[in-house]
Amino acid sequence: MKEELMKFGILEENVSLETLNTYRIKTHTKYLLHPRNEQDVLHFFKYAKEKELDFFILGNGSNVILSDTMYDGVILKLDQLKKIEYQEHELTVGAGVMINFLARDILEHGLSGLEWASGIPGTVGGSIYGNAEAYKVSTFEYLKSVRYITPDGNIKTSFKEEISHAYRTSFFKENPGYILLEATFVFPEGEKEKSLAIIKDRLQRRLTSQPLEYPSAGSVFRNPAPDMPSGKLIDDLGLKGKRIGDAMISVKHANFIINLGNATGKDIRSLIQLIHDEVERVYHIDLILEQEIKKW
Ligand SMILES: Cc1cc2nc3c(=O)[nH]c(=O)nc-3n(C[C@H](O)[C@H](O)[C@H](O)COP(=O)(O)OP(=O)(O)OC[C@H]3O[C@@H](n4cnc5c(N)ncnc54)[C@H](O)[C@@H]3O)c2cc1C
Repeated sequence: MKEELMKFGILEENVSLETLNTYRIKTHTKYLLHPRNEQDVLHFFKYAKEKELDFFILGNGSNVILSDTMYDGVILKLDQLKKIEYQEHELTVGAGVMINFLARDILEHGLSGLEWASGIPGTVGGSIYGNAEAYKVSTFEYLKSVRYITPDGNIKTSFKEEISHAYRTSFFKENPGYILLEATFVFPEGEKEKSLAIIKDRLQRRLTSQPLEYPSAGSVFRNPAPDMPSGKLIDDLGLKGKRIGDAMISVKHANFIINLGNATGKDIRSLIQLIHDEVERVYHIDLILEQEIKKW
């Protein structure tokens, strides 16, 4: 199988995933594949279907909780899909490009509209999948279209209007089996200095309100309503500082779970369950997970 997989890109074997997920869970994968281009992704996809091979896509691993045992399949890392092509206000960008990098890159082209994303450590693919959002602006705001592989192995382009999306979710999250390849955005003209000032302000706000000094994967739960932050519900229950193994509910922000050093995926999942059950018991609210458990 190794020889076959090497046809579809740069292949690594028995790889630690510790630096490839922002929780820094110390786990491994049998194979990590970096396809060189779209055709590599498509050919791999067809091969995996034919051989019934287990695989999944890892963006920057900033919204996932990985399992502790070795993953016996193939993890696809689309970090070679990194083109950024500008045509006046429009730009086409590979799914592997980091959205916080893009937030600054567009400023060099006289554009604006991604300041909100400057503190989001995720890829464009992962951000479309989960419709990442901050300060009331979401990834779909300036999105024009998306190019992707369908579960039956075709490459398709859809316009934003054709893709359902809502608070922290999208068609792609609700319907697993699609691979996002690239996206086209249309951004308004902007003033670099103004945008840089907004970025500075946003990053400062995050520094004061979020435990960025510890590994985490951002907010754990979606807010049950716009005026009802999950963090406040959890804080009001006195759960800040609650710890299972090395996973702890941040004392700085109750909707963050942080890794104090050796947290396992199981520690984090157990803490999530505890929070969920307490909120349900006291408030009768069924909190929905924003992060995704990748269990194997
Ligand atoms: C400190 C911190 C702050 C954060 N702040 C915010 C915030 O303000 N707002 C917010 O919305 N999020 C926030 N996040 C969460 C996270 O960064 C975003 O959700 C981000 O968009 C996830 O992108 P990713 O590339 O890391 O996805 P991953 O975590 O790697 O993957 C998430 C899911 O997307 C799927 N996926 C990834 N790429 C593709 C693709 N090309 N095709 C198909 N499926 C794909 C994966 O299989 C997985 O199921 C924060 C995280 C951290 C650590």
